[in-house]
Amino acid sequence: MRIDPRQAALNVKMLILDVDGVLTDGGLYYDNSGQVMKRFNVQDGLGVKLAQSVDLEIAVATGLDSKAVKRRVKELDIEEYFAGRLDKAEVVRDIAARRSIDPSEMAYLGDDWVDAGALRLVGLPMAVTNAQPEILKLAAWTSTVPGGHGAVREAITFILDAQSKLDRLWRKWS
Ligand SMILES: [Mg+2]
Repeated sequence: MRIDPRQAALNVKMLILDVDGVLTDGGLYYDNSGQVMKRFNVQDGLGVKLAQSVDLEIAVATGLDSKAVKRRVKELDIEEYFAGRLDKAEVVRDIAARRSIDPSEMAYLGDDWVDAGALRLVGLPMAVTNAQPEILKLAAWTSTVPGGHGAVREAITFILDAQSKLDRLWRKWS
């Protein structure tokens, strides 16, 4: 059965984000010492803060581990951070087991095959527009902009709007 994304968004308490290709454009830069550098999007960052301010929790799950991601996650006060976890479905189950959040109350934004298991479990499966075709098929919602270019902000805006929280937030800033 096809999921209605606006309907599914009503129940979402947590949005889980993949890193490479979602919070970043998927590029990996190596400096001379072999340290990896990644480029994050500032508008995504404010989106995360906005979400947290109205109790939409943000979690991050990455197959790789790096100082750059740790730094960004800390900067954004993200407590649920899973590094070096290739099995994203396991991350969903892990959170559900520890917290009183059912997978049906989670959204997951991904871009590649490693995200498939998690996308099948959550209530609102989301993909960036430049995700792999198999992932686009699993998603009930797709961004209009690519990963690393505001797709996270767009996903957060979609959920908050469906939950009628976006206008109230905007009025605080305008
Ligand atoms: Mg990815």
